[in-house]
Amino acid sequence: MRNENKEKKADMIITNGMLLTMALESAPVENGAMAISDGSIIALGTAAEIEKTFDATKTIDAGGGLIMPGLVNAHTHAAMTCYRGMADDLPLMEWLNKFVFPAEAKSDGDQVYWSTLLACAEMIRSGTTTFCDMYLFEDRVAEASKDAGIRAVVGEVLYDFPSPHYGPIEKGLEFTESLIKRWQKDPLVTIAIEPHALYTCSPDLLKKCRSLADRYDVPLITHLSENRTEVEEVMKKYGRTPVNHLENLGLLSSPLIACHCVWLTEEEMDLFARRKVRVVHNPESNMKLASGVAPVPDLLARGVTVGLGTDGCASNNNLDLFQEMDTAAKLHKVYRLDPTVMPAPTVLEMATLGGARVLGMEKEIGSLEEGKKADVIILDLNKPHLQPVYNIISHLVYSATGADVRDVIIDGKVIMENRKLLTLDEEEILRKAKEMGEKIRIKSGISPEL
Ligand SMILES: [Zn+2]
Repeated sequence: MRNENKEKKADMIITNGMLLTMALESAPVENGAMAISDGSIIALGTAAEIEKTFDATKTIDAGGGLIMPGLVNAHTHAAMTCYRGMADDLPLMEWLNKFVFPAEAKSDGDQVYWSTLLACAEMIRSGTTTFCDMYLFEDRVAEASKDAGIRAVVGEVLYDFPSPHYGPIEKGLEFTESLIKRWQKDPLVTIAIEPHALYTCSPDLLKKCRSLADRYDVPLITHLSENRTEVEEVMKKYGRTPVNHLENLGLLSSPLIACHCVWLTEEEMDLFARRKVRVVHNPESNMKLASGVAPVPDLLARGVTVGLGTDGCASNNNLDLFQEMDTAAKLHKVYRLDPTVMPAPTVLEMATLGGARVLGMEKEIGSLEEGKKADVIILDLNKPHLQPVYNIISHLVYSATGADVRDVIIDGKVIMENRKLLTLDEEEILRKAKEMGEKIRIKSGISPEL
């Protein structure tokens, strides 16, 4: 009920929860609250302060749970949900050439649309409010994201060989430009230029991508130094490591978003710091494909911006960033035999503000601060694996999973309430997923017992 004695109006109040803003040097606020208007955060404080000041149209009671920023999945291939579990336990190049590329050659826009909706359902359910995507038929990825109400950075994958979507590469660049123009003013969807990798893109194509990115001031994103075979292939072809090859072409300048970066030398890491290259760490994909362990603690020590990604779920095999945080924290400890590396706060920052910085969106998302977009998640802490709480950040990294996310708000709109998706018809998406699985099974000649 509206109370005329309250000074200010808000579209929504989220109250009665522990407030973890992820803003610099801010401690969690017990019994905190926030007010939202026109898609943005207008106030943060204690529940008493916010409830006294704001007259809100809608109030969400966090029920003593945790109110925190939505997670940022800084690198994925969302539509690969339809290939989950189709081919596992293989090296990257064999996995790509024998299974992924042939299956993708038979994909179409509808498959990408529904597989992306499936991914959006999974990401929203596990607390991701922004994802950065590289795939085919990205117009359909943008549409699916928009329909789901999730924030997305999307880019058509570009490579030298003909694409099942756009055909020859010239058409791919034209298509990317048309995407930029179409989505230029959208509040949720932004476009990036995404050449696949140095072993699939000629220097000429890479240069064209850079100039297109510069012309429209959009990010340039690529897979870089993901595994040893890639480094060897690029060395053989160009006489330089992938990083030095890019530097030699003058393409390492900001804003370049480099995904994986497993095989880097000390000099290359110094160069990354100087050139302000932004890195996305995908530990589970790197582990599953046995690509190696990215030197993330060394990059962070040099001041390089690092975000966290799941990569496509065919190489993970899920899109749950809570699980990815747990893995990221533990992988580096065991690899270095040092439990002090990658502490929980560092990892949580990578999955929130770090990811936002990687995407150049840190002024809008990544933390809960006045003036930023209201991308918020609420976690139910009243669970056996989350009580008692000594340190909430520890729980988020080492104990919580995506299933603990109760509500999701993106751009000030409630997208999931009490674990019910409000923008998506989950039943229909699951039915489509099963149908797609059958079609892919037949087209790819996979026997049913697999
Ligand atoms: Zn990838």
